[in-house]
Amino acid sequence: MEYTFPVTRTTTPKAKPDPNNLGFGKYYTDHMFIMEYDEGQGWHDGRIVPYGPLSLDPAATTLHYGQMTFEGMKAYRNPQGRINLFRPDMNAKRLQKSNERLCIPPIDVDLYISAVKAIVREDADWTPSVPGTSLYIRPFIISPEVSMAVHPATKYWFIIILTPVAAYYAGNESELHGSHIWVEEEFIRAAVGGTGFAKCGGNYSCGMIAAAEAKKYGCEEVLWLDAKEHKYVEEVGTSNAFFMIGDTVYTSSLTGSILPGVTRDSTICLLRKWGVNVEERRLELAEVLEAAKNGTLKEAWATGTACVISPIGLLKYKGEDFPINNEKVGVLSQKLYDTLYGMQTGIREPEMEGWVVTL
Ligand SMILES: *Cc1c(COP(=O)(O)O)cnc(C)c1O
Repeated sequence: MEYTFPVTRTTTPKAKPDPNNLGFGKYYTDHMFIMEYDEGQGWHDGRIVPYGPLSLDPAATTLHYGQMTFEGMKAYRNPQGRINLFRPDMNAKRLQKSNERLCIPPIDVDLYISAVKAIVREDADWTPSVPGTSLYIRPFIISPEVSMAVHPATKYWFIIILTPVAAYYAGNESELHGSHIWVEEEFIRAAVGGTGFAKCGGNYSCGMIAAAEAKKYGCEEVLWLDAKEHKYVEEVGTSNAFFMIGDTVYTSSLTGSILPGVTRDSTICLLRKWGVNVEERRLELAEVLEAAKNGTLKEAWATGTACVISPIGLLKYKGEDFPINNEKVGVLSQKLYDTLYGMQTGIREPEMEGWVVTL
């Protein structure tokens, strides 16, 4: 079922930015979607309004206790000039799981997808067509409720904003490279029983300190280890991690501290379809480093909506460098990137039925 929403159009549309110099989150479109929740009434009054600042009481609980969830998606301009979304149902279901963990009332999957489609259609002409660029979609939920008490709010706002963004791989959209990754020994991202599987604000602010540390040592991202034993590999920055040892591809099982990425799931589905053996299990850092040393670690990469596939060229651990595949982009990493990016942008026929939703 598809919902429709009333639209209040802006009277002052903005000039479109230079599609060759978009950055990530520098520009926002003319409109946004907003829907409210009130206890006893449920989600109501979904509507499209001109993009603009929110009026929030300084005592709004979200500002103090961080009760919020969000999603991240991309819309691509396909070669026919239409717009592709990628597996929006997965994001809708994940938001429900995030909400459940943060005590925020769920949003119906059809309602979520209808809202995303409605705002993307409204500001469709903001979707850039330069290769690699996209319209990044940021749905999020906050509470405007005024209270100092630590308890779930009774009022929420579900908002969707859109920002045209540059290609992740600057220069050439298909120019992947092996990034240098800092194995983080001190700080942790998420613990089992916590909120690691949810997309919620606090998970990201707590990781910034490690990212800053990684940069100091010339690394682009952090490899997170598990919180309890600092023994198992979990995620890379804000992406899921994959390691190919021998002929098997490993990625962490969804233990509770792992974010269930849509790109992670898509990667596993594609690899299995291609006949590659994939194991979802906890993988020890020691196994990875040993495999890097003896040459059986053939490839490693990270997956996420922003980068699609980001090959890992080197791990830095206790001052020692562990190069992977001579820091070159692996065959499987490249094939996954070409297939996923090709499907998302419509350059290639979708290999999986129902994954691409064209507006
Ligand atoms: C969003 C996110 C991912 C990637 O999920 P996708 O759905 O593939 O974009 C991975 N890890 C973390 C911590 C994330 O927040």
